[in-house]
Amino acid sequence: MIQTTAAVLREPKGPFTIEAITLDEPGPGEVVVRIAGVGLCHTDLLPRVAEGLPLPLVCGHEGSGAVVAVGDGVTELEVGDHVVISFDSCGSCRSCESGRPAYCATFFPRNLSGRRVDGGTNAKDAAGEDVSARWFGQSTFAAVTVVTARNAVKVDKGLPLHLLGPLGCGFQTGAGAVLESLRVEPGSSIIVFGAGAVGLAA
Ligand SMILES: [Zn+2]
Ligand SMILES: [Zn+2]
Repeated sequence: MIQTTAAVLREPKGPFTIEAITLDEPGPGEVVVRIAGVGLCHTDLLPRVAEGLPLPLVCGHEGSGAVVAVGDGVTELEVGDHVVISFDSCGSCRSCESGRPAYCATFFPRNLSGRRVDGGTNAKDAAGEDVSARWFGQSTFAAVTVVTARNAVKVDKGLPLHLLGPLGCGFQTGAGAVLESLRVEPGSSIIVFGAGAVGLAA
């Protein structure tokens, strides 16, 4: 068991409260990450207004940190690697195989259910009750978390790790909107409303 602390959402419109939780050791294809920094995006506030999510829940979906343990079958990451953690995907459906993991056939259960695809969870609170800790495959509002290796991307150790988290969502969303979705051409103009991670990257 891994002992850690996390910001837990227990009720809609409730606060994120810092609690002690325990996590299972990493399973096949999973890694344990000590979090250095994490962005706060409107997606992390969604569970405070949306119905039907399995609370209590640990949010956080654009984190960065250092790998402290790896599960079976993980070959591309090792202990000590610095990683940015993004959304989860299966790697084997038609969308994933054509290089579009954001359209993964199991995107919603992997990222927006708070649970694993099989509905299970790897976390318990101090009373031994289940806590959902798979938000976007990572739940990075925590000191230590278990993530799927597939959505942890190794980064250069010379970079300021605590600042890199928003690369996992906000920065790729803003840059992708301009470079891919809008395909803004040289010499043309766009207006960006709002200058958080998404707007600044755009
Ligand atoms: Zn986001
Ligand atoms: Zn897929």
